[in-house]
Amino acid sequence: MLMKNYKKLVFLVMLAFTLSGTFLFTPLANAQVNVTSDTPAVGFDSTLQPPNWHVSAYWNTNAPTAVPGKLDVTYNGSTFQADGVTLSSSTYGYGAYSTSLNLIPNTPYVMSGYVKATNIEINPNHMGYTNKGPFGFSRFDNINQQSNSKTYTTQLLNSANSTDGWIKLDFHFISSSSGLTYLDCNLGGYCCDTKGTVEFAGLTLKQDSSYKTVSHSDFVAAVPVSQLVNYSVSDSALDSWGSKLNGATQKLKELTGINDSRISQIYMLNDTALEEQTKVDFAYAGIPCIFNAVASNFTFHYAVTQDAVEHSQLHELGHTYNTDHNRIWNFNDEVFANVRAAYTAVQNNIKVRFWTTDTSNIPTYQGISYKQFYDSKLAEYISNPTENAKGYELFATAGIYLRMVYGDASAGLPPLGWNTLKTFFTNGTSTSYNPTSGIYLDPNRGYTDDFKVFTQSLNIIAQITGKSASDIANYVPNGFYWKWYNNPSQYPFKSIN
Ligand SMILES: [Zn+2]
Repeated sequence: MLMKNYKKLVFLVMLAFTLSGTFLFTPLANAQVNVTSDTPAVGFDSTLQPPNWHVSAYWNTNAPTAVPGKLDVTYNGSTFQADGVTLSSSTYGYGAYSTSLNLIPNTPYVMSGYVKATNIEINPNHMGYTNKGPFGFSRFDNINQQSNSKTYTTQLLNSANSTDGWIKLDFHFISSSSGLTYLDCNLGGYCCDTKGTVEFAGLTLKQDSSYKTVSHSDFVAAVPVSQLVNYSVSDSALDSWGSKLNGATQKLKELTGINDSRISQIYMLNDTALEEQTKVDFAYAGIPCIFNAVASNFTFHYAVTQDAVEHSQLHELGHTYNTDHNRIWNFNDEVFANVRAAYTAVQNNIKVRFWTTDTSNIPTYQGISYKQFYDSKLAEYISNPTENAKGYELFATAGIYLRMVYGDASAGLPPLGWNTLKTFFTNGTSTSYNPTSGIYLDPNRGYTDDFKVFTQSLNIIAQITGKSASDIANYVPNGFYWKWYNNPSQYPFKSIN
């Protein structure tokens, strides 16, 4: 899953890929599962004083005022004094009190502290956003790019305007592959403009012994020890899972031509109650890709112990290899995240299980059979008027691209091969093959626009293969519904109704 309005963030992540210079990291020759012990982070300034800490503001909002100094904290019936900072803002914004430091790369950390919100108000226009973190902690590893690593603090507010007593926040995250980490105490966040006052005090940062890592040359995951214990996941099973995702990352690099020196990261959340309250989505793409407790528990219970990965891991990693850098056009990356996932599963013969509430019947595919999943979704979509009237279906549409790759002998359609899509991903959006008209990416655009651009992808594939656009359009099966395409006469597809 990828929130529509999250595309911008993914873009920023990808831009960071392309613009980044050198990164400091040590490739690990051998896979390994690492146990972390509680060790205070070197270089973390818990006094919260300048120059190690400073105010910042994002998205052209105003920075909050910051007053560092001793604060009286009352928590659990006792009162004590601690170093802290008071952040205030009278206008809606996304501000922070920030520090940066070099942590041990790819290592789980936990930042803890006491927080008190006073008259915190979220911009009413943004109340509908999910995953709101109106105040709290967050991290990122590139000054130009925000991360989805943050505390989800909406549930700490009684309403849009709330005053609370002191609470303790624990923020678990994984450091970047370079180690360079920016940490924020937030007033506001990327999902909501916020104003009011928030106090932070008694901050600590240490390595997080409640997490383990599995590290490989191109991939690292941080996983909760409690989940591993609950489902009796052995170190070797965990290591094997990491090895599969490491191989998947290598295939994504091969398919897309993106040779990023950073390691792909996955971070598993572990607080079911909090995530239910704050409606944290199943999974997010980014650095790191983040999975909620539902996704994480399922993965360790039903995939890792069965020598498999859960589909979403391949899907989210697939998103992070989005090749659409220039943003001149975009067909929905949900579709191509799955196409790229298919490449990794088939080429590396990875066993994939799909999340379901019916755990007695978990869809399971390995290698080329993973392609059959998309075949069946495409057939189901075409034969089901209720489904196809919805217009957008990411599995069915991915199935069309896989039909191109592998062909369909029963329909007289020759395979175009993965090399076609390799060229498509590596050059398809650059100067080599231009779409017939640009559609600029706007996170507020509907999927209708994505399908307009879908037709342009067929033009590009025609150019790559030296075939006509209508030859390529033949890979789109009869019955594929074009309701979303407002003016079918613009393109020579078979009109369905
Ligand atoms: Zn997605």
